[in-house]
Amino acid sequence: MSQTVITCSQGTIQQMKETYGRSLKQKTPQGAVFSAKVDGCSITAYRSGKVMFQGPNHDFEAARWNGNSASPKKKSSSQQTTSPYYPKASLLTSSHGGSDEAGTGDYFGPITVASVYVTEEQISTLKKAGVRDSKDLKDPQIQQIAKRLVELEIPYSLITLHNEKYNRLQRKGWTQGKMKTMLHHAAINKLSEKIAPIKMEGFVIDQFAEPNIYKRHLYSENQTLQDNVYFMMKAESHSIAVAAASIIARSAFVKQMNKLSDKAGIELPKGASRRVDQTAGALIKQIGADGLEEFAKVHFANTEKALHYVR
Ligand code: MG
Repeated sequence: MSQTVITCSQGTIQQMKETYGRSLKQKTPQGAVFSAKVDGCSITAYRSGKVMFQGPNHDFEAARWNGNSASPKKKSSSQQTTSPYYPKASLLTSSHGGSDEAGTGDYFGPITVASVYVTEEQISTLKKAGVRDSKDLKDPQIQQIAKRLVELEIPYSLITLHNEKYNRLQRKGWTQGKMKTMLHHAAINKLSEKIAPIKMEGFVIDQFAEPNIYKRHLYSENQTLQDNVYFMMKAESHSIAVAAASIIARSAFVKQMNKLSDKAGIELPKGASRRVDQTAGALIKQIGADGLEEFAKVHFANTEKALHYVR
């Protein structure tokens, strides 16, 4: 069986035990401090300081701890430029793919994920067309640039997770992180099919989770990470493909919001503010709380707050 063994201080082993808290096993072998099981990896730490990682994800799980006695939480807050999943600078100036999402923090409306492939020759054209991080652009500009990307026939894929399915998955125990992972994964596959036989030299995901966690979500659905996929925080400011993806995802999100607003007969605000609570309250009065399933991410605290406006 594939495995990695590392030696750690007792302090690090205690940190591990806390980190794996919910995944700890009741039974431990003789001489062990703890045993845990996460997707794709079993971990056993011994009083001798040896920690054994076994299973398909052994190397990545071990890499979280190897030669590092600091808390992995601290580590995750900084960009890990030495990570094997961090893209080389040269990739960002040559042909590559990128993906980004929209709608994750909005109570109303779906999550949309777009993947875009940009060739080296197209980079300057896209810059001229105004492609940059969608957060710096107003919605009408986003719609215009998205239209331009379509005219330029830039290959892209788009996946929309509508509210009803979102709510179903959420109740099944899926976190937003897992949903985003599976959406990005599907969007990359769809884009790869679209551009075949061209193969992407690299693909950059705007990082929303540590690569290990992303991989673990994939394992939990019997999927594995595609080749040449990299992760980068704030990738939309470094990769034109990710910036273009952020525009397409946002544009699709806005379109869906318009559709939903038409259907609801009220303008549904973006975000998760008090205006959102009030609108949700008004909507509940019209169609009942169950009706929200089609329009909103109902596990957000906004649902509870909206009910105050109904009573
Ligand atoms: Mg993003």
